Amino acid sequence: MPQPLIFDIKRYSINDGPGIRLTIFFKGCPLSCRWCHNPESLAPGAQKLYTARKCLGCGECVKVCPRQACQLSAEGIVTDVDLCQVCGACAEVCPSRASEISGRAYSIAELMAIIEKETPFFDQSGGGVTFSGGEPLLHTPFLLDLLMRCGARDIHRAVDTSGYGKTAELLAVAKQTDLFLFDLKLMDAARHQEFTGVDNRLILDNLRALAATGAQIEIRVPLIAGVNDDRPNLEQLAGFVAQLAGTRPRLNLLPFHNVAEHKYQKLDQSYVVAGMAAPTAESLQRAAEICSAHGLVVSVGG
Ligand code: SF4
Ligand code: SF4
Repeated sequence: MPQPLIFDIKRYSINDGPGIRLTIFFKGCPLSCRWCHNPESLAPGAQKLYTARKCLGCGECVKVCPRQACQLSAEGIVTDVDLCQVCGACAEVCPSRASEISGRAYSIAELMAIIEKETPFFDQSGGGVTFSGGEPLLHTPFLLDLLMRCGARDIHRAVDTSGYGKTAELLAVAKQTDLFLFDLKLMDAARHQEFTGVDNRLILDNLRALAATGAQIEIRVPLIAGVNDDRPNLEQLAGFVAQLAGTRPRLNLLPFHNVAEHKYQKLDQSYVVAGMAAPTAESLQRAAEICSAHGLVVSVGG
């Protein structure tokens, strides 16, 4: 079975499903949303991260690099991405964690051991494990194995997905999942393509198919002023959700915050926020009212 990389494991999470949760973030995503808060989640492979403000200028990384891929300059370490093989030698010797590697392979047994350590918190709070990303559906065989093992131990299982995956795989995952956190962003296909890099037809078809199974679903809408907080988009989105078969999903509005810039800097990528802004309080309230008017239970902020 192909082993995916994990870029983060977050303990005591309270925004990824009910109760206290352990959230496991898979690397790799078929979408590339312009507002993505986790740019390190997009590529499936390991990546070198560098934080200039943490760098001590000791040059240890330069000495150990087998490819002469990193050099010390007046601005700190400069890495030649064409030479770098992401071997991790620099991160191992870096005394300040200025150099890090994002993405580590874990075996199923390792992950289950990490999950099982958290069960006292799950039991006390009604929590469980959430598989997120990136896109967990990119790693369905691995994900299914974990879901089945958690199910056998009576651990609540949530899957946080963009919905952009093979329908048959999504429905197989649904049989082993207690709650889906399903992202919906834009209803207009062309704008969805423009802002996320993919068409939304597969996502909407998958959501219909998933709802028809009776799966428990929470719809998550990242609300970004200038992108998707307009009335036509919200009316269409709420109307679509309200007409889904099965248990009516709750809808969670997640206001965009411009907080990810430092993560893009770590990857030496630019973060273009032009045309995107946090919604105002009035805009948030209007969005909640539009969605509530379609009979949906709406919450704001996770
Ligand atoms: S990850 Fe390896 S190849 Fe890349 S800069 Fe660090 S030591 Fe060099
Ligand atoms: S080892 Fe770490 S602290 Fe030292 S120069 Fe390299 S990145 Fe900076």
